Amino acid sequence: METKDLLVEVKNLKTYFYLDEGTVRAVDGAEFDIRRGETLGVVGESGCGKSVTARSILNIVAKPGKTIDGQILYHRRTNDHTDILDLTQLPPQSDQMRAIRGAEIAMVFQEPMTSLSPVHTIGNQIMEAIILHQRTSQEEARELVIEMLDLVGMPLPERTIDQYAHELSGGMRQRAMIAMALSCHPSLLIADEPTTALDVTTEAQILKLMRSLQEELGMAIMYITHNLGVIAQMTENVVVMYMGKVVESAAVDTVFYNPQHPYTRALLQSIPRLGQTTRDRKRLASIRGMVPDPYALPRGCHFHPRCDRMMPGICDRQDPQMVEVEPGHKVRCLLYNGK
Ligand code: SF4
Repeated sequence: METKDLLVEVKNLKTYFYLDEGTVRAVDGAEFDIRRGETLGVVGESGCGKSVTARSILNIVAKPGKTIDGQILYHRRTNDHTDILDLTQLPPQSDQMRAIRGAEIAMVFQEPMTSLSPVHTIGNQIMEAIILHQRTSQEEARELVIEMLDLVGMPLPERTIDQYAHELSGGMRQRAMIAMALSCHPSLLIADEPTTALDVTTEAQILKLMRSLQEELGMAIMYITHNLGVIAQMTENVVVMYMGKVVESAAVDTVFYNPQHPYTRALLQSIPRLGQTTRDRKRLASIRGMVPDPYALPRGCHFHPRCDRMMPGICDRQDPQMVEVEPGHKVRCLLYNGK
């Protein structure tokens, strides 16, 4: 299999939130790579650190959060060579970080209304990004916006460009946000649950759109979701996160057909499958217990109170390390430590 060039290397990333109640280790040693042109799925339950990882890459973690350790190495291609920049070392408001954010690494959020301005037209907001990063004239930028709205399948782009976000349906707003994110042709698009708030038909259209745009523009996508069905459709490689750590990473087929971590197996058992009978459906498994209190994480493996294969005296005492169980397939579980 052809190995694509590295685009982003996340190494031992730690982003903590310092609150009066205690410290939340939202991302606690996350490690993974994103390669040029690939789609990496990041999956896990709410609160597992997926979105904070994305915000750490963009250097937009809100206070009292802070990236306190690790590296985010961005392989930045300029005309004839590649520079490697550690994004954790760039001040969030520095010129260099602002040039990367939005233009080279862009993000689509779950709820477009949180990132689209209610008082500016869709066109003005996308034009602003284009003028800022590409230094074009107003007229050229307007032409580019109409092209981009057309590309993302927006109906009547010449008219929509002058509309406000509240005049659009949920699916159209999401398309507008994708158009804004793609307007500067980023190398990496981070999509954080971009279809969760949409109905299934619009979700299917947006997923199809993102796949075809990826092929056309050759960008990488980091696709964050709790929906394994979307992961199966959209991604080539997957990282599974639990309480701020990557617990399994592999190619998508390996994760679905040969999962090794008990948490990944439990996640897979908790999704309904086509063809299941009503009787089977009654037995659809759920993951035992609750996500632990982030202020008081269990000792040892954080998953041990919920794990079917927990080894007493071992899993509640030792911190599992990541082990490569086969080429390209890594698992953080004491069942495999020492192998
Ligand atoms: Fe389960 Fe132990 Fe593996 Fe944790 S380390 S996932 S508790 S078997």
